[in-house]
Amino acid sequence: MTPRILIVEDEPAQVEVLKYNLANQGYAVQVSARGEEAMLLVEEDPPDLVILDWMLPDTSGIEICRQIRTRKETRDIPVIMLTARGEEEDRVRGFENGADDYVVKPFSPKEMVARIQAVLRRSQPGLTEEALEYGGIRMDLGAHKVFRDDRVVHLGPTEFRLLRILLERPGRVFSREQLLDKAWGRDIYVELRTVDVHIRRLRKALNGDNAAPDLIRTVRGSGYAIDVENAKAS
Ligand code: CA
Repeated sequence: MTPRILIVEDEPAQVEVLKYNLANQGYAVQVSARGEEAMLLVEEDPPDLVILDWMLPDTSGIEICRQIRTRKETRDIPVIMLTARGEEEDRVRGFENGADDYVVKPFSPKEMVARIQAVLRRSQPGLTEEALEYGGIRMDLGAHKVFRDDRVVHLGPTEFRLLRILLERPGRVFSREQLLDKAWGRDIYVELRTVDVHIRRLRKALNGDNAAPDLIRTVRGSGYAIDVENAKAS
């Protein structure tokens, strides 16, 4: 899965350098020059990481970071603050408001990429590790194999991608739109109810015939999530 990174920065030169280097690393990059717009983007479709400039034309990066941390849907998104100032006091304020890391301009693209990788590794072990494990389910990402309590689960490629998305953030509710974007990609037109069809197949394959506890939770009107309660019970 390609990690998506939102850059919130109003200096075009800075944006270009970041965009170029992040795209080179295989990240999907989105850019916003204003704080308010960035907040809308984050809420509409949470990225995997936000690079947030301290000084924005309409509001401060600190304020945006605080807002990201306050809202339930966005509070787990890692944030790297970007600033021209390097004072210790700013650094402390950044961390106090929930930043995961702090990079001082000018920075080398190489350093930035290393910081991003470190933050993503901490926040989403599933993006970089070879296996995902939760609630009796084990996904071997390299071999493309899935087990539930040592029973082999046969999944089609779409079901495999859906399960991976859900397992990377157990408990988090993904809307059908988000699942569509992540599992099928943005450029393909697929009807929303197709997601339901594949979730149904995934559920059937995971639960098997012996009616094991259902590990996928349907959140009416919202989407799907891994059922953390059932996972603990199983
Ligand atoms: Ca700026």
